[in-house]
Amino acid sequence: MTSLDPEVYGTLLPAELLCMIIEMLKIEDGTLRSSLSILGLALLSRWHYDVVSEWASCAINKELCSNSYLKAPFLPQQMTRLTIICKHLGWICAYCNNKARHPSWRGEFGTSLRLCHACEPVYMPKISLSRIKSIFDFAPGIDGVSLLELLNPFRSGITAENVVMQNGIVEQVIRERFYRWDEIQRLVSEDTTETKAHLRLRTEPNEDFSSEEYCLTSHGNETNKSAEAFPRFHLLIEASNNGGMNVRGRDTYHPHITDLLLLQEFRYRFDPTWHPETSEEPNLAEYVHFVTPWANADNWNNRPWSMQNFPKAPRSAFIFPKFKNLEERKADPAYHEYQSTCAKIRALFKAFPGILRAPGVWRRCMRRVTIGDAVKIAAGGRKKWRGVPSFNFEFQLRKRDGDYDIEFVSGGNRKLEFVACPESFRIETQGEHWQANIVGVRGDQVYTLSKSWYTKQDYFGRFELCEMDELLQET
Ligand SMILES: [Zn+2]
Repeated sequence: MTSLDPEVYGTLLPAELLCMIIEMLKIEDGTLRSSLSILGLALLSRWHYDVVSEWASCAINKELCSNSYLKAPFLPQQMTRLTIICKHLGWICAYCNNKARHPSWRGEFGTSLRLCHACEPVYMPKISLSRIKSIFDFAPGIDGVSLLELLNPFRSGITAENVVMQNGIVEQVIRERFYRWDEIQRLVSEDTTETKAHLRLRTEPNEDFSSEEYCLTSHGNETNKSAEAFPRFHLLIEASNNGGMNVRGRDTYHPHITDLLLLQEFRYRFDPTWHPETSEEPNLAEYVHFVTPWANADNWNNRPWSMQNFPKAPRSAFIFPKFKNLEERKADPAYHEYQSTCAKIRALFKAFPGILRAPGVWRRCMRRVTIGDAVKIAAGGRKKWRGVPSFNFEFQLRKRDGDYDIEFVSGGNRKLEFVACPESFRIETQGEHWQANIVGVRGDQVYTLSKSWYTKQDYFGRFELCEMDELLQET
């Protein structure tokens, strides 16, 4: 550092005062506001850069959370203190430029680092004690319990215990013990004749997907044959939790509420203009603002935040089909593809901040074109695009409880009626519960109408729809 004497650089603002200003800029709300303000100050002059860098070094040492970056494994050595603090305050992943998991998930278990959905299972995969026991044998003479006691688990004990929740309801919570895979891998041999290893792989290689390959530490040692199962499941859990909803009711949310939560989650991860909700009520007006251009038969299934199109965290398999070290996990094509998709979306928002309301431009950008070409398309689209506010519009959505997909039924500048034609429902069994919403805007007012049905079979085996109730809500 050269000098912190302000007069040398022609400014009379004392460094102490600048540091006080920076302290006031530290807002941890999951947005980039704090980081961009601090970076903006640092870029004013060489002197400002030196003062802000000095402040960043002190701030990292003072704060337990950001202090963890200094001890974290695999972090690039060339990361400056200013970069670290800006990433930390902006909830940017410590290892890449994706948004980290939402603030409501806090940091990574062991290090408190703020990591994205793809980097956590790649850089810090974890294995539960129950998975260790289900796929490994302890070598003869090795006392498994005492061996694992030597290691440092993130959560202690596999116990089911009754926990009193905030609402006073007692729920049984299972606490699972997780270890960092890199600690366990040292103890393992894939060779069953190996005598020195503490753990031996017992089971045959299998291609099932494990919840732990996505760092779903709330669901230890679960497997599924579908590649989509865990990413979809956890996306909805995160969107619900981050939107302040009770995740236990996620299967029975109204269709527009599920769609709103996914939109909010998408904007948190990619849209720099996202900000946290200020009221407890879901912001229906904001939802209508973004969804209206997509609320037609041509565009609905292309909306970026739908469960189908949302970039989902890739699997990072670290045991089957073979043990992988960090370099191999980082080289996984699925990891690269996810990172490339996320980088493209971030670049599109930079080139055209309003792109989430321009379905035509979005569709052209998301075809198989390079990031550079997509940015050119977005920049061109930004010049020509004219946003048309909707003052008189209604659209109807429908969803079967438990499904991820939300169907578009109809929309237009007219009053809609609920469609209750059994042929238009994909009814498969009796006892299904369907919900529909009409979302509308008239002038400044937005509103929703709700209707629900359950299905039953008549004497001839044909499905019937029975209305559950009718509810009018005006917001
Ligand atoms: Zn990352």
